[in-house]
Amino acid sequence: MQDYEIIIGLEVHAQLNTQSKVFAVSPTQFGASPNTQVSTVCYALPGALPVLNKKALEKAILAGLALGSSITLFTKFDRKNYFYPDLPKGYQISQFDKPICVGGQVEISVNGEEKAIRLTRIHLEEDAGKLIHSLDPNIPFSYVDLNRAGTPLIEIVSEPDIRSSEEAYQYLVNLKNILRYINVSDCNMEEGSLRCDANVSIRPRGEKGFRTRVEIKNLNSFKAVKSAIDYEVEWQKEQYSRGLTFSQMTKLWDANSQKTIPMRTKEMAHDYRYFPDPELPPISLTQEFIDTLKSNLPELPKQKKLRYVTEFALPEYDAEVLTSEKEIADYYEQVVAICKDPKKASNWVKDEILGIVNKENISISNFSIEPKRIAELIQMLNSDSITGKIAKIIFETMLTSKESPSQIAQKQGLVVMRDTQQIEELANKAIASNPDAVEGWKKGRDKVLAALVGFIMKETKGKADPKLVNEILLSKLGPLGEKQK
Ligand code: ADP
Ligand code: MG
Repeated sequence: MQDYEIIIGLEVHAQLNTQSKVFAVSPTQFGASPNTQVSTVCYALPGALPVLNKKALEKAILAGLALGSSITLFTKFDRKNYFYPDLPKGYQISQFDKPICVGGQVEISVNGEEKAIRLTRIHLEEDAGKLIHSLDPNIPFSYVDLNRAGTPLIEIVSEPDIRSSEEAYQYLVNLKNILRYINVSDCNMEEGSLRCDANVSIRPRGEKGFRTRVEIKNLNSFKAVKSAIDYEVEWQKEQYSRGLTFSQMTKLWDANSQKTIPMRTKEMAHDYRYFPDPELPPISLTQEFIDTLKSNLPELPKQKKLRYVTEFALPEYDAEVLTSEKEIADYYEQVVAICKDPKKASNWVKDEILGIVNKENISISNFSIEPKRIAELIQMLNSDSITGKIAKIIFETMLTSKESPSQIAQKQGLVVMRDTQQIEELANKAIASNPDAVEGWKKGRDKVLAALVGFIMKETKGKADPKLVNEILLSKLGPLGEKQK
């Protein structure tokens, strides 16, 4: 079997989260009734003139700065001409030869190996509207909704540096994470604010130069990107193994059949007849403007991860999980700020909380327990006023209650029991009802202590102070006997 190398380049469209459109004042609210988020510019009424939204420009530059691109000081907009009913102007305003950002990279780590995927460019453009086709055969109409028309997009084009579907997946995860950290896009794939086209080709390992590529569109989840690439690679391998070739084409991913389906070949490709948009003056940026934006860039995932390891002394793995989403990092930092115990806070957030958040598939920002209450719970643990077991009980209660952990502890009598006399009595009872354990202790079997502690914990429903229980039991058992063979 011929060994093939996989070559992938991704084109990602991210919707910028501005309040208004890129060349118009109309709002960009998602999910509004059709044609309510529109103005004369979106309708392309005669005489309506586009005016650039400064915020959209800033966000596009921020994306470039965060991804290590160089920013083009003299940039401009071009018309990309094509006809489609959701595009009343007959052209899309995009950028052709002077994209706002050039170069840059997304760093990925696959199977422990670090790798930088180079970016070709990032450009700013407007989105088109949407066609809504009637599903009712008695109403044979399609409708045009222009709410999305003119929403700012950045298109991020990668070099063909990606070598597997797993790398493509990581690239998207990391890219999304960065764009969300810097608050330029919410990258919500379900709402279409992140869209990805995958360009795929293969070549016999060792061969120089690239072979014909297939561009796959309609990928609406990270999982779809992975599955589509895997399917496409197999398809191309099969063509070559049969001695066949194919021409460059665009395919669609069909999630139902889990197949890529040809849409059009290169011969049918559009000639967009790009030319500079005469209604939008070119933009001349100063280095000072860019430097100011750069100095306002927030901490990026990689820097944050490093800081968690150095400042909070967290294991690399903890830092990785906690910085994997901005919301998780924000939540975690709020907990630490109050309880001042980075490692305990990490354990609670990454194990208990993310366990629930992931299971319920919600965002941590919608998690029912606020950082403040988790911090208080950790403080109670650290001051030994509750045991680990009680903490879990309080945590469970907090999931459905608005009360603070101390209120819950008080109400349910969940405080640590430190009554020496009572523990002495329980220790006597434990020893009396476990003669075997006591016998074992004399024979040097130190494990029996845990059994006796367990007995008392069970009797007190986990409330007895484990330290005190240990001390009292030890004093009653006397020294551990010689180990017998
Ligand atoms: P177009 O404008 O037609 O989409 P581009 O040159 O901008 O073409 O390339 C689009 C994407 O295709 C880029 O991400 C690039 O890395 C990728 N690409 C180019 N050639 C190949 C190839 N042979 N195999 C896989 N990906 C490729
Ligand atoms: Mg393309």
